[in-house]
Amino acid sequence: MNERQIIEYIATLAGPADARLVKGIGDDCAVVAQDGHQVWLLTMDTLIEGVHFDRSFHPPEKLGRKAVSVNVSDIGAMGGKPVFILLSVGMPQGFDESWFRAFAQGLTDACREYGCLLIGGDTVASPQGFTCTLTVIGEADAAHVVYRSGAKPGDTIWVSGPLGRAAAGLELLRQGIESDNDAFASLREQHLNPTARVKLGRLLGASGLVHAMMDLSDGLATDLAHLCKQSGVGARILSQDLPGVPALAEVARLTGADPEQWALGGGEDYELLLTAAPSSQGRLLDLGHQCGLTLAPVGTVVAGEGVVLIRQRPGGMSETVAIAYQGFDHFRGGEGG
Ligand code: ADP
Ligand code: MG
Repeated sequence: MNERQIIEYIATLAGPADARLVKGIGDDCAVVAQDGHQVWLLTMDTLIEGVHFDRSFHPPEKLGRKAVSVNVSDIGAMGGKPVFILLSVGMPQGFDESWFRAFAQGLTDACREYGCLLIGGDTVASPQGFTCTLTVIGEADAAHVVYRSGAKPGDTIWVSGPLGRAAAGLELLRQGIESDNDAFASLREQHLNPTARVKLGRLLGASGLVHAMMDLSDGLATDLAHLCKQSGVGARILSQDLPGVPALAEVARLTGADPEQWALGGGEDYELLLTAAPSSQGRLLDLGHQCGLTLAPVGTVVAGEGVVLIRQRPGGMSETVAIAYQGFDHFRGGEGG
């Protein structure tokens, strides 16, 4: 079983239904009705040493903030506001206390930054390595929640920023490529200390313009396939429109990697992926600019199924390749959420 099959199997066993549950397994958060017009949004993500982070190059304060960012990202992806956090930590006997204090400081500072409160958790010994699981509880007006399931044929597909930066940064860190170059430093920072697009997600949710939305944790190829499956549609992505940064190609050259592969399957972008009618373009760009971000159109939603990438070739030729689910999967190897 791969990660997707495991989740689908668990979903078949869950139940019975509860009238308060608006959305269960399958979106970025579970959605539970409150009294009135509000809903609760619930999500959980785990970071495991040796899988998600390497303590030899990951500063503990940044890891603490990252634990919060990757979790609140799912709340923002549904148009919500994070409110409460529960923290479970697992640490080996004789753990480094100064490391732990710095991690906890980064985590609690990030809670304040994103406007949520740590209200509980669990503390256990781990046989090997450090683990951290966060549960985030968020809130939204029910009418503002954006699901993965609303994409319509003809919609434009957007991402909230450049793709593949975290994967490039991780490669720099792994290969120990040191350079004072600001562009390289910002790639490294993208892996070590990403920022969740919570403010943008809330603005997009409240705008009523967005048909479907999720955050990008496993790479566009996999995450867009999830969104398409939930919406019962397909997607066409244009390779030339994938937003990157110049340093990406430079790092790819240095490390012998393929920057397009980072953009499609690198994972950990923590940008938002959304679809909306083509006529919403101007208003979407304005909302991005309000958050200091440049939204980029990357393709179109089509009837049918499957996610394809179209590459323009010299001489006006183009090639079309299937890319669905070619991003990160925990049970197929790689790196990511
Ligand atoms: P994301 O990348 O947005 O965090 P995931 O791919 O981790 O989402 O999960 C997709 C969906 O499957 C979510 O609704 C999540 O709550 C659910 N899910 C993942 N793992 C499990 C599990 N072990 N048991 C029940 N639900 C799960
Ligand atoms: Mg998500």
